[in-house]
Amino acid sequence: MADGNLRRPLISGNWKMNLNHFEAMRLVQELSYQVTRDDVDAVDVSVHPPFTDIRTVQTTLESDRIPFFLGAQHCHSDASGAFTGEVAPPMLAKLGVTYVIAGHSERREVFGESDELINAKVRAILANEMVPILCVGETLDEREAGEAQRKVEGQLAAGLAKVKPEQVASMVIAYEPIWAIGTGRTASADDAQAMCQAVREAVGASHGSDAADSVRIQYGGSVKPINAAELMNQPDIDGALVGGASLEAESFTRIIQYRLHD
Ligand code: PEP
Repeated sequence: MADGNLRRPLISGNWKMNLNHFEAMRLVQELSYQVTRDDVDAVDVSVHPPFTDIRTVQTTLESDRIPFFLGAQHCHSDASGAFTGEVAPPMLAKLGVTYVIAGHSERREVFGESDELINAKVRAILANEMVPILCVGETLDEREAGEAQRKVEGQLAAGLAKVKPEQVASMVIAYEPIWAIGTGRTASADDAQAMCQAVREAVGASHGSDAADSVRIQYGGSVKPINAAELMNQPDIDGALVGGASLEAESFTRIIQYRLHD
Protein backbone atom coordinates (compact mmCIF):
# COMPACT_ATOMS: atom_id res chain seq x y z
CA MET A 1 0.00 0.00 0.00
CA ALA A 2 1.09 3.53 -0.65
CA ASP A 3 2.34 5.71 2.16
CA GLY A 4 -0.73 7.40 3.67
CA ASN A 5 1.34 10.55 4.29
CA LEU A 6 1.31 11.32 0.58
CA ARG A 7 -2.39 12.05 0.78
CA ARG A 8 -3.52 15.19 2.56
CA PRO A 9 -6.18 14.37 5.15
CA LEU A 10 -9.65 15.79 4.52
CA ILE A 11 -12.07 16.29 7.43
CA SER A 12 -15.57 17.06 6.16
CA GLY A 13 -18.57 18.22 8.16
CA ASN A 14 -21.90 17.04 6.74
CA TRP A 15 -24.52 19.22 8.42
CA LYS A 16 -27.42 17.34 6.79
CA MET A 17 -30.77 19.17 7.23
CA ASN A 18 -29.61 21.23 10.21
CA LEU A 19 -28.86 24.92 10.84
CA ASN A 20 -30.46 27.94 9.18
CA HIS A 21 -28.23 30.50 7.48
CA PHE A 22 -27.74 32.57 10.65
CA GLU A 23 -26.76 29.48 12.63
CA ALA A 24 -24.50 28.37 9.78
CA MET A 25 -22.67 31.71 9.78
CA ARG A 26 -22.23 31.52 13.55
CA LEU A 27 -20.83 27.98 13.37
CA VAL A 28 -18.20 28.78 10.74
CA GLN A 29 -17.17 31.88 12.68
CA GLU A 30 -16.86 29.88 15.91
CA LEU A 31 -14.83 27.27 14.05
CA SER A 32 -12.54 29.94 12.67
CA TYR A 33 -11.75 31.15 16.21
CA GLN A 34 -10.83 27.62 17.36
CA VAL A 35 -9.12 26.07 14.32
CA THR A 36 -5.53 27.28 14.02
CA ARG A 37 -3.24 27.97 11.09
CA ASP A 38 -1.26 24.84 12.08
CA ASP A 39 -4.46 22.81 11.84
CA VAL A 40 -5.26 23.90 8.29
CA ASP A 41 -1.62 23.46 7.32
CA ALA A 42 -1.95 19.82 8.41
CA VAL A 43 -5.45 18.94 7.15
CA ASP A 44 -8.03 20.13 4.64
CA VAL A 45 -11.40 21.00 6.15
CA SER A 46 -14.69 21.15 4.27
CA VAL A 47 -18.14 22.15 5.49
CA HIS A 48 -21.30 20.94 3.75
CA PRO A 49 -24.25 23.15 4.70
CA PRO A 50 -27.83 22.80 3.42
CA PHE A 51 -28.38 24.56 0.07
CA THR A 52 -30.14 27.53 1.69
CA ASP A 53 -26.98 28.31 3.70
CA ILE A 54 -24.35 27.93 0.99
CA ARG A 55 -24.27 31.53 -0.21
CA THR A 56 -24.06 32.82 3.38
CA VAL A 57 -21.28 30.38 4.26
CA GLN A 58 -19.43 31.27 1.05
CA THR A 59 -19.45 35.00 1.82
CA THR A 60 -18.49 34.37 5.47
CA LEU A 61 -15.53 32.19 4.46
CA GLU A 62 -14.41 34.76 1.89
CA SER A 63 -14.91 37.94 3.91
CA ASP A 64 -13.34 36.51 7.08
CA ARG A 65 -10.62 34.69 5.07
CA ILE A 66 -11.44 31.36 6.69
CA PRO A 67 -9.42 28.62 4.95
CA PHE A 68 -12.11 25.94 4.81
CA PHE A 69 -13.40 24.40 1.61
CA LEU A 70 -17.05 24.88 0.80
CA GLY A 71 -19.00 21.68 0.19
CA ALA A 72 -22.49 20.56 -0.81
CA GLN A 73 -24.41 17.49 0.31
CA HIS A 74 -26.02 16.56 -2.97
CA CYS A 75 -26.79 17.74 -6.52
CA HIS A 76 -28.67 16.75 -9.66
CA SER A 77 -26.81 15.13 -12.54
CA ASP A 78 -28.09 17.51 -15.24
CA ALA A 79 -26.86 21.05 -15.84
CA SER A 80 -30.36 22.55 -16.00
CA GLY A 81 -33.94 21.57 -16.74
CA ALA A 82 -37.41 20.84 -15.44
CA PHE A 83 -36.42 19.20 -12.15
CA THR A 84 -38.45 20.96 -9.49
CA GLY A 85 -36.59 21.35 -6.23
CA GLU A 86 -33.22 20.21 -7.55
CA VAL A 87 -29.87 22.04 -7.72
CA ALA A 88 -27.51 21.69 -10.69
CA PRO A 89 -23.73 21.19 -10.47
CA PRO A 90 -22.89 24.43 -12.35
CA MET A 91 -24.91 26.38 -9.76
CA LEU A 92 -22.73 24.92 -7.01
CA ALA A 93 -19.52 25.51 -8.96
CA LYS A 94 -20.51 29.17 -9.41
CA LEU A 95 -20.85 29.49 -5.62
CA GLY A 96 -17.30 28.30 -5.11
CA VAL A 97 -18.21 24.81 -3.95
CA THR A 98 -15.24 22.41 -4.11
CA TYR A 99 -16.53 19.11 -2.67
CA VAL A 100 -19.92 17.52 -3.36
CA ILE A 101 -21.12 14.41 -1.53
CA ALA A 102 -22.62 11.78 -3.87
CA GLY A 103 -24.40 8.62 -2.83
CA HIS A 104 -24.70 9.29 0.88
CA SER A 105 -26.57 6.33 2.39
CA GLU A 106 -29.46 8.63 3.34
CA ARG A 107 -29.81 9.61 -0.33
CA ARG A 108 -29.61 5.96 -1.36
CA GLU A 109 -31.98 4.62 1.29
CA VAL A 110 -34.46 7.45 1.93
CA PHE A 111 -34.56 8.97 -1.56
CA GLY A 112 -34.01 5.78 -3.57
CA GLU A 113 -30.92 6.92 -5.46
CA SER A 114 -29.53 4.10 -7.59
CA ASP A 115 -25.91 3.28 -8.33
CA GLU A 116 -26.48 4.45 -11.92
CA LEU A 117 -27.83 7.82 -10.82
CA ILE A 118 -24.98 8.27 -8.37
CA ASN A 119 -22.49 7.51 -11.14
CA ALA A 120 -24.13 10.16 -13.33
CA LYS A 121 -23.78 12.64 -10.45
CA VAL A 122 -20.12 11.74 -9.89
CA ARG A 123 -19.40 12.40 -13.55
CA ALA A 124 -21.39 15.65 -13.54
CA ILE A 125 -19.53 16.89 -10.45
CA LEU A 126 -16.19 16.14 -12.11
CA ALA A 127 -17.31 17.75 -15.39
CA ASN A 128 -17.95 20.92 -13.40
CA GLU A 129 -14.46 20.83 -11.88
CA MET A 130 -15.59 19.96 -8.39
CA VAL A 131 -14.54 16.94 -6.35
CA PRO A 132 -17.03 14.16 -5.62
CA ILE A 133 -17.04 12.51 -2.22
CA LEU A 134 -18.49 9.14 -3.24
CA CYS A 135 -20.05 7.33 -0.28
CA VAL A 136 -20.14 3.55 -0.04
CA GLY A 137 -21.08 1.26 2.83
CA GLU A 138 -22.94 -1.82 3.97
CA THR A 139 -25.91 -2.43 6.24
CA LEU A 140 -25.59 -4.38 9.49
CA ASP A 141 -27.33 -7.40 7.92
CA GLU A 142 -24.85 -7.37 5.05
CA ARG A 143 -21.91 -7.17 7.45
CA GLU A 144 -23.24 -10.00 9.58
CA ALA A 145 -23.82 -12.10 6.48
CA GLY A 146 -20.18 -11.59 5.43
CA GLU A 147 -21.33 -9.53 2.45
CA ALA A 148 -19.83 -6.17 3.41
CA GLN A 149 -16.89 -6.17 1.04
CA ARG A 150 -18.91 -7.44 -1.90
CA LYS A 151 -21.50 -4.70 -1.35
CA VAL A 152 -18.90 -1.94 -1.07
CA GLU A 153 -16.97 -3.15 -4.11
CA GLY A 154 -20.18 -3.26 -6.13
CA GLN A 155 -21.09 0.32 -5.16
CA LEU A 156 -17.56 1.39 -5.99
CA ALA A 157 -17.50 -0.26 -9.42
CA ALA A 158 -20.87 1.28 -10.30
CA GLY A 159 -20.02 4.71 -8.88
CA LEU A 160 -16.70 4.91 -10.74
CA ALA A 161 -17.92 3.53 -14.08
CA LYS A 162 -16.70 5.60 -17.05
CA VAL A 163 -14.62 7.80 -14.75
CA LYS A 164 -11.04 8.24 -16.01
CA PRO A 165 -8.15 7.08 -13.80
CA GLU A 166 -6.80 10.62 -13.39
CA GLN A 167 -10.24 11.77 -12.28
CA VAL A 168 -10.48 8.94 -9.76
CA ALA A 169 -7.06 10.01 -8.47
CA SER A 170 -8.50 13.44 -7.62
CA MET A 171 -11.60 12.07 -5.90
CA VAL A 172 -12.58 11.26 -2.35
CA ILE A 173 -14.30 8.00 -1.40
CA ALA A 174 -16.06 7.82 1.96
CA TYR A 175 -16.47 4.38 3.51
CA GLU A 176 -19.50 4.75 5.74
CA PRO A 177 -20.95 1.58 7.24
CA ILE A 178 -24.66 2.38 7.42
CA TRP A 179 -25.03 0.83 10.86
CA ALA A 180 -22.49 3.35 12.21
CA ILE A 181 -24.12 6.51 10.84
CA GLY A 182 -25.81 8.57 13.52
CA THR A 183 -25.97 5.58 15.85
CA GLY A 184 -23.01 6.20 18.14
CA ARG A 185 -21.60 2.83 17.00
CA THR A 186 -18.26 3.16 15.24
CA ALA A 187 -16.46 0.54 13.21
CA SER A 188 -13.34 -0.58 15.04
CA ALA A 189 -10.20 1.04 13.67
CA ASP A 190 -9.09 -2.39 12.39
CA ASP A 191 -12.36 -3.05 10.57
CA ALA A 192 -12.43 0.47 9.12
CA GLN A 193 -8.82 0.11 7.96
CA ALA A 194 -9.51 -3.32 6.43
CA MET A 195 -12.39 -1.97 4.36
CA CYS A 196 -10.56 1.20 3.34
CA GLN A 197 -7.64 -0.98 2.23
CA ALA A 198 -10.06 -3.15 0.24
CA VAL A 199 -11.48 0.02 -1.37
CA ARG A 200 -7.98 1.14 -2.36
CA GLU A 201 -7.17 -2.27 -3.80
CA ALA A 202 -10.41 -2.27 -5.78
CA VAL A 203 -9.56 1.17 -7.18
CA GLY A 204 -6.12 -0.17 -8.11
CA ALA A 205 -7.65 -3.12 -9.92
CA SER A 206 -10.17 -1.00 -11.83
CA HIS A 207 -8.29 2.27 -12.41
CA GLY A 208 -4.60 1.53 -11.82
CA SER A 209 -2.05 2.04 -9.11
CA ASP A 210 -1.66 5.83 -9.58
CA ALA A 211 -5.37 6.31 -8.91
CA ALA A 212 -5.22 3.95 -5.93
CA ASP A 213 -2.22 5.75 -4.46
CA SER A 214 -3.79 9.20 -4.82
CA VAL A 215 -7.48 8.74 -4.10
CA ARG A 216 -8.37 9.89 -0.60
CA ILE A 217 -10.49 7.52 1.46
CA GLN A 218 -12.49 8.87 4.39
CA TYR A 219 -14.12 6.88 7.13
CA GLY A 220 -17.56 8.04 8.27
CA GLY A 221 -19.89 6.76 10.96
CA SER A 222 -20.09 8.27 14.45
CA VAL A 223 -16.64 9.86 14.27
CA LYS A 224 -16.14 11.77 17.54
CA PRO A 225 -13.21 13.55 19.20
CA ILE A 226 -12.56 10.42 21.24
CA ASN A 227 -12.14 8.02 18.30
CA ALA A 228 -10.87 10.35 15.55
CA ALA A 229 -7.13 9.89 16.13
CA GLU A 230 -7.23 6.10 16.18
CA LEU A 231 -9.22 6.03 12.93
CA MET A 232 -7.15 8.71 11.22
CA ASN A 233 -3.89 6.97 12.11
CA GLN A 234 -4.77 3.94 9.98
CA PRO A 235 -2.65 3.78 6.81
CA ASP A 236 -5.55 3.70 4.35
CA ILE A 237 -7.78 6.23 6.12
CA ASP A 238 -7.14 9.73 4.79
CA GLY A 239 -9.92 11.65 6.45
CA ALA A 240 -13.31 11.63 8.09
CA LEU A 241 -16.84 12.42 6.98
CA VAL A 242 -18.50 13.70 10.14
CA GLY A 243 -22.22 14.18 10.70
CA GLY A 244 -23.49 14.90 14.23
CA ALA A 245 -20.14 15.93 15.70
CA SER A 246 -19.66 18.58 12.99
CA LEU A 247 -22.64 20.60 14.24
CA GLU A 248 -20.77 21.99 17.23
CA ALA A 249 -17.59 24.02 16.89
CA GLU A 250 -15.86 22.41 19.85
CA SER A 251 -16.34 18.78 18.82
CA PHE A 252 -15.59 19.41 15.14
CA THR A 253 -12.46 21.36 16.07
CA ARG A 254 -11.25 18.53 18.29
CA ILE A 255 -11.72 16.11 15.39
CA ILE A 256 -9.80 18.47 13.08
CA GLN A 257 -7.07 18.53 15.76
CA TYR A 258 -6.99 14.73 16.08
CA ARG A 259 -3.21 14.74 15.68
CA LEU A 260 -2.90 16.64 18.99
CA HIS A 261 -4.95 14.04 20.86
CA ASP A 262 -3.08 10.83 20.00
C1 PEP B 1 -22.67 11.15 7.95
O1 PEP B 1 -23.60 11.92 7.93
O2 PEP B 1 -22.12 10.86 6.90
C2 PEP B 1 -22.25 10.58 9.23
C3 PEP B 1 -21.22 9.78 9.23
O3 PEP B 1 -22.96 10.93 10.36
P1 PEP B 1 -22.52 10.68 11.90
O4 PEP B 1 -21.11 11.20 12.04
O5 PEP B 1 -23.51 11.46 12.70
O6 PEP B 1 -22.59 9.21 12.15
